[in-house]
This record gives sequence, C-alpha cells and structure tokens, in this order.
Amino acid sequence: MPWLHRIFDRINLFLKSIIHLLYPDICLHCHRELTIKTPFLCYACLSKVEFVKWRKQEVHHLLEQAMTEAKVAESCVLFSFERNSPVQTILHEIKYKFNRSAAIYFGAMLGRQYSGLHTKADFEVLLPVPVHHYKKYDRGYNQSELIAMGIKSATGTPVDRQILKKTKNTKSQTKLSKAARKENTMGTFSVSDQIKNYKAIAIVDDVITTGATLNSICEVLIEKNKNVQITIFSLAIANT
Ligand SMILES: [Zn+2]
Repeated sequence: MPWLHRIFDRINLFLKSIIHLLYPDICLHCHRELTIKTPFLCYACLSKVEFVKWRKQEVHHLLEQAMTEAKVAESCVLFSFERNSPVQTILHEIKYKFNRSAAIYFGAMLGRQYSGLHTKADFEVLLPVPVHHYKKYDRGYNQSELIAMGIKSATGTPVDRQILKKTKNTKSQTKLSKAARKENTMGTFSVSDQIKNYKAIAIVDDVITTGATLNSICEVLIEKNKNVQITIFSLAIANT
C-alpha cells in the first residue's frame, strides 16, 4: 500500500527533524558530532567539498545553448557536485528532507560570494526555478525559493514567485539521459507579461546537471522579452 509507506516516510522525516532540532550539532553527511562550530557539515566533510570559483561575467559551458539565444551575463555556482559527496547530501537534505535552514544558509553564502565580486547586483529581481503546484503542495515548499531568499539577504534584490510558472508536472530528471531531459523539460515553463518590466533578472536553481531546465527557461523568457539580461545562480553544478 503506497499511501501507507508515504505516511511512514512522513513520520520518519518528522521524527528526524525533531532529533535535528534537539541535536543540531550533528554533521548532515557523516552524522558525527560537530566538534568545530561549522553549521551542517563537520570540518572533515567540509574539507571534501569542492567550491567553484567563478569569475565575473563568466558562464559555465553547460549553459552555452542558453547563451546562444539569450543574454546570459554570468553563472554563479557555489559547489561542484559529485555522487555520494557531502554536496549531494546537502542537496538531498534541501530537496527532500525539509531542511529549509540549510537552503537559506547556503543561498546566503552564494549571495555573499556574488556581492564580493560586484559593487551592486547586475539584476533587478530573483526568479526561483518553479516546481509544479502539485509537487509544491506535496513537499510543502520549493527549495529554489528558499535559496533565492538566502541570496536576497546578501544582495538586497527582491524575489518574485509569480513570473515563472511550471505548467507541466514532469518526471524526476535524476535517471534520465541528456536527450530525455531535454524532451522532458520542453514546453513545461510559462512566463507572465510582468517580465517585460525588467531589463535584467536572475534565475535561481538548486543544481545544474545538464543545463536542460535552465536552457528551456531562458527560451521562454526571451520569447516574452528578447533583450532581458540573465544571471544564473545555482548551489551546485555537475562535475563534467
Ligand atoms: Zn561529517
């Protein structure tokens, strides 16, 4: 009975979050006690994390397709993603385990890194990559909105949750091939006319795996506002 499993999963997650509230000083990845005050990851796991050092106005090669059609000014990414790494644990916690504070914390870290390179933000508004409303209802939140709130705390730019919408409830992308991902994301996003009010916007995602999602969002954005300048934020990017 799948519904019974879902109830057990929810109870299990609820208990885990209570334990985490009572004992917050446990590393998310290795579950050892945090001896040095680093939030979420212990010093040993943190030292395994590969940070991406992007340069101002540099765009990652996974977003080259988007760049040929849209004005992508810069891609800002915090971590390089590898399977079974502490970064995968962080992303899993944020996406599936209701760890809202980690999403905001690492979003703020990304925002501070951006602010260190720019005297002021090169965009007027942050647009989180949307999830379909069924999924948001099921999960209770959209992780990209929380990451965007973290970025906002560093850059001061507002977050708009209405401009980008997901109109098709797509399959999970994790097990799809590159070509299947592209097909899976085609025609899934819509953009409201409010986009015409902006000259420069930023899109916020949790992880870039092939770039298919962001490429298709850029396509629909420029259909409505062909001159809009786009900055891309993501907590992580696949190590390719
Ligand atoms: Zn650890």
